[in-house]
Formats: sequence, C-alpha cells, structure tokens
Amino acid sequence: MTVNDIFDREHLWHPYTSTINPLPTYKVASAQGVTLTLADGTMLIDGMSSWWCAIHGYNHPVLNEAVTQQLGRMSHVMFGGLTHEPAIELGKLLLSIVPPNMNNIFYADSGSVAVEVAMKMAIQASLSRFEDPQKVNFVTIRRGYHGDTWNAMSVCDPVTGMHSMFGSALSRRYFIEAPSCRFDDEWDPACCRELERTIRLHHNELAALILEPIVQGAGGMRFYHPNYLKVARELCDQYDILLIFDEIATGFGRTGKLFAWEHADVKPDIMCIGKGLTGGYMTMSAVLTTKEVADTISRGEAGVLMHGPTFMGNPLACAVALASTKLLLSTDWQAKVAHIEESLRRLLAPAKEWPNVADVRVLGAIGVVEMRRTVDVGAFQKECVKRGIWVRPFGRLVYVMPPYVISDLQLQYLIENMLEIIRPQ
Ligand SMILES: *Cc1c(COP(=O)(O)O)cnc(C)c1O
Repeated sequence: MTVNDIFDREHLWHPYTSTINPLPTYKVASAQGVTLTLADGTMLIDGMSSWWCAIHGYNHPVLNEAVTQQLGRMSHVMFGGLTHEPAIELGKLLLSIVPPNMNNIFYADSGSVAVEVAMKMAIQASLSRFEDPQKVNFVTIRRGYHGDTWNAMSVCDPVTGMHSMFGSALSRRYFIEAPSCRFDDEWDPACCRELERTIRLHHNELAALILEPIVQGAGGMRFYHPNYLKVARELCDQYDILLIFDEIATGFGRTGKLFAWEHADVKPDIMCIGKGLTGGYMTMSAVLTTKEVADTISRGEAGVLMHGPTFMGNPLACAVALASTKLLLSTDWQAKVAHIEESLRRLLAPAKEWPNVADVRVLGAIGVVEMRRTVDVGAFQKECVKRGIWVRPFGRLVYVMPPYVISDLQLQYLIENMLEIIRPQ
C-alpha cells in the first residue's frame, strides 16, 4: 500500500462504501480500448464499460479530438440565455434517432437528474392539464433502478433499493410486481394484470408510469417481454397518465436496438438518456418529450419548466456526445452487438449447468449470470485482478456489458476467466 492508497482509503468515498471497512480499490493509471492499466502495470480487460458508458472503449482518438477541439473554443458557458453549436447539433442528431414523437430536449448533468427532471415534467404537465393536486404520483414496477437522488430513489425497487434506509422521508409510490414474462418467453397477458388493476384503481392520483423499457438494469438485470410495453402504453392512454421510459442504461445500442423502445415499437411521452451518451467521457444526460407535453407544461401555472442546472448543456459534454453518437452511427454497431450477443450466449452456456447458478441470460451486449447466493464482491474482484479482467458483481448477479469494440479473443478471455471464478469447486 502506498501513501496515496492510504489517503484514498481514509478520505475518499467510493460508491456505496463504508469508511470503517471499505472494499479495496485499484488505482488505474490509464485506459486504452477495452484495457484498463493499473498503477502497478497490471492490465485488465474491462467487462463493465465503466457502468454502461464507454461503448467505444477508452482513449478513443475521435472522441479525444472532439474534446480537444471544443476545449480550444470554450469548455463551458451558462445555458441561461446563451446557446452554442454543440448543443444545437447534438439536439438535431438526437431527435433523428429517438422516437419520432419526441420534440423537446432538456440537457441535464447525470442520469439521476434526468429522472428528477422527467418526473417534474410529468407533474407539471399533469397539474397544467387536469388542475387536480392529487394527480401527481407515480406508478412503477419492482426491481427497477432509476438513480440515487431523492425522487429517482422513490421509484427504485423498494426492497433492494434504498427505501428501508430512508423511511418515511421518501415519497410513497405505487409498486407492482416486476413483469414475470421474460423477453423470449411466449407472451402471457396475465403478466399485466396487476399493472392494469393498479392504474384502473389509482389513475386519479397518477401523473405517470415510469419504466426501464425491456431491460431492468441495476435493480436486477432482468429482461422482460416487449408486449408489456404495448399494454402499458394502452393503459396510459386509456387513463390519461404519461409514460416515461428511462433509457439511461438501455440506450445507444446496448440491447441490440439503438434504444429499447424499438423492441416493442412503443413510444413514450418522456424519455431519459444518459450513460453511453458521451461514450463515457463526460457526465451528461438528456430528457426528451413531445411537443404536447412541453407545451402543456408551458401553459401551466409556472409557465416554464422549473429546472435549470448550472452545468446544463455543457459544451464539452455536448461536443463529445455528438462525436460519440456520430461515431456509433457510422459503424455497423448492430452487427457488432449481435455478434457480441451470440458470443456471450455461447461462452456463458456452460454456467447454466452449475448447481450454484440460478440463471444465465443474454440480451444484446449484456450477459448475466445470476448466482444462487450473494457474491462476495471484494474476494471476487481480487480474483478478477489476478486474472486480468474487470467485472463488478452486485448481490447475486455477475454480469458484463463490455465496450462494443471488444475483440473475439478479448471477450473469450473475459468470460472464460469470469466463469473460472464462479465455477463450483
Ligand atoms: C445509472 C442509471 C440511472 C442513474 O444515472 P446516474 O448517471 O448514475 O445518476 C438512472 N436510470 C437508469 C436506468 C440507470 O441505469
């Protein structure tokens, strides 16, 4: 341990860590392609894309160039009363790839803030349209994850999320069972019964239904049936509630479609994107909505959308998001993701037979091994580093979502070593 390692351990908070007994951290000196190089020279093949973000890998010349160019012009200006080319060009490009009903964009600074903004939009639109102070609550499905800020937390899974720790300080939402019908199961309409019932009974109190479409990420890594979204859309229309899709994890090709709504061809009223938006270079997110919702908000009591972060529309972030999205669209990402999917299915298959494994599932460039018992993250990661891979499990889930530029050999090395760690002794 160096002096700096001790400083890190004694003074820096890492995500979800104890100050008394922190998990070990590994110091990264540099990163290139899909490889992280630690300070001691150890090289790790990255299976996490730094939590879904680094879709093109690290230190990409095109993205570096976009940041450098923008840096020479300006790194930041306030977005209140000022605008700039990177924001405009990014907006044009985003509107050409999201659901065609999207018309207005709010640039926010992280995924959680995007969810806060989406929920504020829904409430403002509901109050403006119905003038009913009761119609401001939300319904969602269990096993969801929408971020760590206050309202985002309130719609995360109430058991595995943080509800119990925050008690009555969090708003009470309506929760229904997570969809039981898996992505590739035969469709069973009974899967929507509770959704239908809850919306029918409580629509007078509901501003919106919020969902991660198709893939529930950090709340359980579950893949559910596209027809669920179709029924959700019909119910929202029938009972006048808005449909919010949180595509922060699923966006930018991860599930095999550019955005997950395409699996069902169901358009939301409000959509959040983030994570892969800047290729992992800068913190940035966006909330998109329809002209109808945007104008309804503007006709409301406030007359404006009540949000405006300091770093909104940051030019460096916009410039690199523009470059990253262009780069993605200029490659045959669909074939690449399909190829990763096929490889993950083949490479992960042996684990299906193991007694300590409950389930193995793959969708797009996401591979999940659900264990029967909680994984010891510290011990697991120590083993990863020894073997030259980077995977960070949570709960009973060991999963990967590698950068799309991973080669066949790198993917094979990553998965074979990951399986060696969990293989029953
Ligand atoms: C990561 C994530 C968020 C939160 O994003 P942050 O940038 O971490 O605030 C919200 N929703 C989903 C689906 C996510 O995966």
